[in-house]
Amino acid sequence: MDLFEHQAKDLFAAYGIPVPRGIVAHTPEEARGAAEQLTGRVVVKAQVKTGGRGKAGGVKLADDAADAAKKATEILGMDIKGHTVHKVLVEEASAIAEEYYFSFLLDRANRDFLAICSASGGMDIEEVAHTAPDKVAKVAISPLTGVDRAKAREIAQAGGLPERAVEGAAELIEKLWCAFVDEDATLVEVNPMILAADGQVKALDGKVTLDDNAAFRQPDHEALADKSAEDPLEAAAKARDLNYVKLDGSVGIIGNGAGLVMSTLDVVAYAGEAFGGQRPANFLDIGGGASAEVMAAGLEIILSDPSVRSIFVNVFGGITACDAVANGVVAAFRLLEERGEAVSRPLVVRLDGNNAALGRQILADAGLAGVELVDTMDDAARRAAELAAVGVS
Ligand code: GDP
Ligand code: MN
Repeated sequence: MDLFEHQAKDLFAAYGIPVPRGIVAHTPEEARGAAEQLTGRVVVKAQVKTGGRGKAGGVKLADDAADAAKKATEILGMDIKGHTVHKVLVEEASAIAEEYYFSFLLDRANRDFLAICSASGGMDIEEVAHTAPDKVAKVAISPLTGVDRAKAREIAQAGGLPERAVEGAAELIEKLWCAFVDEDATLVEVNPMILAADGQVKALDGKVTLDDNAAFRQPDHEALADKSAEDPLEAAAKARDLNYVKLDGSVGIIGNGAGLVMSTLDVVAYAGEAFGGQRPANFLDIGGGASAEVMAAGLEIILSDPSVRSIFVNVFGGITACDAVANGVVAAFRLLEERGEAVSRPLVVRLDGNNAALGRQILADAGLAGVELVDTMDDAARRAAELAAVGVS
């Protein structure tokens, strides 16, 4: 999960990292009020989860409260790289002496962490990294030793920061490391990290990516999620603990095991080429214990996707045998019927593996409307794509 700048800065502040005082505003009037509270010059900053806001005109200085309202009017509603601006951060303006770049990130390839530091920070850091890579220091950080003040100083010096900024930067870097580790982040970026006119080193921008896989031990992170930007189907699936990802095709997919579902997506996309380019509508892994409830919840999510025209249930029986899955499908149909959400689109089922014959028998005996049994994955994918294409010219 990526955070908004204002959330990143709140997090930084909680770890003692100096950030400008700021207030979030959703309307020009709120921006005026925020600027009045902050007094003096302010900077009005678009809150969108993408970089390059400055270059896009999403970061503007304002002289007073009236000007802040005007700048907020210009920025709110703006489209920055496909992100609509719904809120701005109004901050006390900083007097910038110099702009540096700093980040910590997870270096998957080398199985450790990386600190990146440069005295040439600000809006052109990508350009600098490209044309003068020697100005961008990359320092490997062992997860075993981490970053203490001495290491932080070493990184700041490697980045070419001037002596007068090194101590302040080292303090910021050391605290940022604590935030990075304690919050289970995979990225914390400060660009620019500034040397202010008064000699203080501050975080003027913040980008944070939190590791969703650590959510179980970071209960506070849930509150940071941007509910308004979530796909409604994915949100509904998440609420039911389903492993679901919305895709843009027409064939709903249910399978057991991530690997099987991934290959099902490929097979369906391939088969769909012969039927006007039908593609998978989703990824859904119902996992090992496919109970009737889980099957019903999965079918319900997929059926609530209006772009789904057919459904492919692809199960390889293992620990959960095919007869249990078949019973799950039958029970799911009944459950949905009782709820008045009867399965209204054709369902192609392929059962293989443990107790496949018994599973097929159960489904055949149940005589569920719209359910077809197909023996192989390829044939089932083709049939599901064909059914999805019906009525499509
Ligand atoms: P980004 O373009 O999305 O990375 O947004 P930033 O938050 O990094 O802001 C872009 C640029 O705006 C910074 O590099 C600064 O040069 C400038 N800027 C941001 N805040 C202030 C401020 O308080 N005072 C001044 N003078 N410039 C600022
Ligand atoms: Mn920036």
